Amino acid sequence: MERTNSNNLFEIAKNFIPGGVNSPVRAFGSVDKAPIFVEKGEGAYLYDVDGNKYIDFISSWGPLIFGHSDSEMRSAFIEALDKGVTYGLPSAIEVEMAKEISDAYPACEMVRMVNSGTEATMSAIRTARGYTGKDKFIKFEGCYHGHSDCLLVKSGSGTLTYNAPTSLGVPKDVIKDTIVCEFNSIESVQNAIDENKGEIAAVIIEPVPGNMGVVPPTQKFMEDLRELTKKEGIILIFDEVITGFRLAYGGASETFNIKPDMVCFGKIIGGGLPVGAYGGRKDIMSIVSPLGGVYQAGTLSGNPLAMYLGLKTLRRLRDNKDIYTDLERKAKRLEEGFKKNISDLGLEITVNRYRSMISMFFTGGPIDSYKDVQRADNEMYGIYFREMLKRNILLAPAQFEAMFMNTVLTDEHLDYTIKSHKEALVEIN
Ligand code: PLP
Repeated sequence: MERTNSNNLFEIAKNFIPGGVNSPVRAFGSVDKAPIFVEKGEGAYLYDVDGNKYIDFISSWGPLIFGHSDSEMRSAFIEALDKGVTYGLPSAIEVEMAKEISDAYPACEMVRMVNSGTEATMSAIRTARGYTGKDKFIKFEGCYHGHSDCLLVKSGSGTLTYNAPTSLGVPKDVIKDTIVCEFNSIESVQNAIDENKGEIAAVIIEPVPGNMGVVPPTQKFMEDLRELTKKEGIILIFDEVITGFRLAYGGASETFNIKPDMVCFGKIIGGGLPVGAYGGRKDIMSIVSPLGGVYQAGTLSGNPLAMYLGLKTLRRLRDNKDIYTDLERKAKRLEEGFKKNISDLGLEITVNRYRSMISMFFTGGPIDSYKDVQRADNEMYGIYFREMLKRNILLAPAQFEAMFMNTVLTDEHLDYTIKSHKEALVEIN
């Protein structure tokens, strides 16, 4: 496969951008010598600068639920552009957006728009601390909540891929109040609460982690977590930056039938533009400035372009809820195909799926925790990734991410992916 133009761009990029990329995993560091540089996206495909065409399972890491360059989204963008790019003052579209989110997600009685998932989780933690007057909070190993200081402890995604789960440059004092628990283990949460009685403001969790690969929680763990946090007066924050409007219109809160006290969104709610949101119970959100003393602000927060695209996306999903059944059907088709290939070839590879979220680990199962995830063989994933790329299939350039389904993937795409999966596995074994 010709990659000269990508390779040349990468050489230049490395001189001006750290590692040649604006987000670490994009460098393909753990799977290849150099990344591909994208020329354009169209439907289910990405095209690189050497003219190669790929079926795209990265989907910009989640936002593009209707695929690339969707015609309705393009029209919405142009309509929005005609009214100006940003106002720095309130506008009606922000009110519509807040109401739409609140209607979709009953636990989110009030919501504040921000510009990224990182901002959303950082602000949610600050709000929970401000509301409770307590500093400590619990997060889980392998869950990634963006790159703000206090959350960058034993996290997933790129930090897991590059074996830097706790970042340099984060002062020890800043993370001394971050307590890390084991995912899917209510005992570890109970122990942390017992050891820090009356001192914990919040528990933040990716209800279905996608950032250590997909690791579904048990229903019981989620229910116990809700009960325990309620009993102890601890604010439960669902980080639904990936799962929100993806697993179901009401996110993981709907699929598990559990109401968190606060929630964070990102990705899908911006329709591909930079966005995030945090919200929750009215009494908690009422502590956010200018109502209360928790300060948080943003020059471009609630900007009309992101609001138009986001609202368009949410309304389309709201009016076509069968999309969720279809996304799950697609993920299930992949799961069954992959599992059959693995069993036919007698390999030790584990496929995890929850609804439309799916990923594969190069190790035997079950994979229920961060500890299990760490058994996965990165080198094997790298070889598999390159074999799939050769067959024009673009997977996440790291094992600890999800494959993202979208509405424009067809059964033909999926069956070709399953066929290529088998060829790739034969090649590497
Ligand atoms: N939370 C989760 C669950 C995420 O997956 C991510 C990013 O992938 C974030 C937060 C951070 O979002 P952003 O990259 O928009 O800052």
